Amino acid sequence: MMPVPPPARKRLGQHFLVDLNIVRKIVALAELHPDETVFEIGPGRGVLTRALCAEAKRVIAVELDVQLGEYLRETMRDCGHLELRSGDALEFPYEELPERTVVVANLPYYVSTPLLFKLFEARARIDRMVLMLQTEVARRLVARPGTEDYGILSVLTQYSAVAKLAFPVSANCFRPRPDVGSSVVSLVLRRRPDLAVHDEARFVRTVRASFAHRRKTLANSLLDEGLPQNHVRQALAQAGIEPKRRAETLTLQEFAILAEALSRPGAGPQPKADG
Ligand code: SAM
Repeated sequence: MMPVPPPARKRLGQHFLVDLNIVRKIVALAELHPDETVFEIGPGRGVLTRALCAEAKRVIAVELDVQLGEYLRETMRDCGHLELRSGDALEFPYEELPERTVVVANLPYYVSTPLLFKLFEARARIDRMVLMLQTEVARRLVARPGTEDYGILSVLTQYSAVAKLAFPVSANCFRPRPDVGSSVVSLVLRRRPDLAVHDEARFVRTVRASFAHRRKTLANSLLDEGLPQNHVRQALAQAGIEPKRRAETLTLQEFAILAEALSRPGAGPQPKADG
């Protein structure tokens, strides 16, 4: 007898795909080759996992919900090349993934932003990603400077990848139905970003500090993050950036130049690591 799946836990972002047409569209977008490895976050009841197993050489899937993990172990026995791991995808040892892994996932929305940052950090091992996200987050990924959606996530996404909005997905395609809109996004990771960023951690800190006080000018946002006034003035002047501008108007290139300028000798303390 087939085991009964455990009830959905909304707290864990459990909105399961029930529309097989959407599953097929996601897998088609990933353009998997039979020799590739796929990493899936949150296999849930396994609908996407099964379709991925049909296309890829190896599927590594990490599920936080222990009961769902047990259910999957029972129901996916026939997928010999599936490696199920129990645990939090935020704690996953990404360095263990083989090179050029393809990430395909219907992400748990409550934790999608930190998961995206984790995946970008691990991009040396990732070739491309096809991700279901809350539409609001998907829009931020591809937002251009000067728009309302443009923020930390846009800058770090576009620094790490070429991102495209692929297609929207109706709430009717999930059980239980989510209260928010959903969209699928494709991302091709940049092995070596185009920009001259010598210290990536510092670049990230600069972007975070610049957006920390979104309604303030760039200069004031950096000052409020504890950077000395002279240093901020000097760095903005060196970078050729008008201090009255707001972070959301800066291009990727300008953030890179600003990060470099803030690091110059005599520049004083750097933006806080956890800002
Ligand atoms: N892939 C399935 C599908 O498309 O039907 C389920 C997707 S559901 C939106 C998200 C899944 O992620 C759930 O199975 C949930 O238990 C799991 N999950 C939630 N938080 C997680 C985390 N931090 N690490 C790994 N899995 C997580």
